[in-house]
Amino acid sequence: MKKVVIASGNAGKLREFAALLAPFEFEAVPQKTLGVSEAEEPYITFVENALVKARHASKATGLPALADDSGICAYALGGRPGVLSARFAGEPRDDRRNNEKLVAALKGHNDHRAYYYCALVFVTNADDPHPLIATGEWHGEIIAAARGEGGFGYDPHFLLPADGCTAAELPAEIKNRISHRGKAMQVLAEMLREMQTLKGE
Ligand code: IMP
Repeated sequence: MKKVVIASGNAGKLREFAALLAPFEFEAVPQKTLGVSEAEEPYITFVENALVKARHASKATGLPALADDSGICAYALGGRPGVLSARFAGEPRDDRRNNEKLVAALKGHNDHRAYYYCALVFVTNADDPHPLIATGEWHGEIIAAARGEGGFGYDPHFLLPADGCTAAELPAEIKNRISHRGKAMQVLAEMLREMQTLKGE
């Protein structure tokens, strides 16, 4: 098994990334266990932030690296909170305050549509000129009253009109398959398959 450093500390994501990489004979190793510090995320796009995290983890370890960046974008707010999703209501990060701020920001607007976005970046080395970049979107709308106990972050306020439920009301295995992260992972899996076929591995 070849090691891949994962530039995330989130236990749920680590499990999902390990499952994504296993069929390609990659062993997912959290960056924390290798003593890698968290990278700065100074950019205004998800892709740039994921790329800088992947390069940072690869540079520190000499291993291939996988990083992600995600958040929620509201149409009426010009894509905000976007890359600021985790800290929309300031420090310390707090889901309840973030949701209150998003619901309040949309109050004067008729358009409550929003989408989650996820960028996944895989680099084979820190200077990789051809990172694999996979993205996924999940569309819904923001509702004022929270519904559901599952998920995290904005999920209790993220309604899927076609399903008649919020992301927090979905069973985890369904959310993981149809979410922005799930979709990006399926795209990345295809890219990894192609890379290994090209290399003849
Ligand atoms: P990160 O990419 O894990 O840093 O996520 C950034 C922020 O986006 C999180 O703290 C959440 O506020 C929000 N977010 C990303 N993905 C999801 C999701 O699947 N459900 C709810 N909130 C999410």
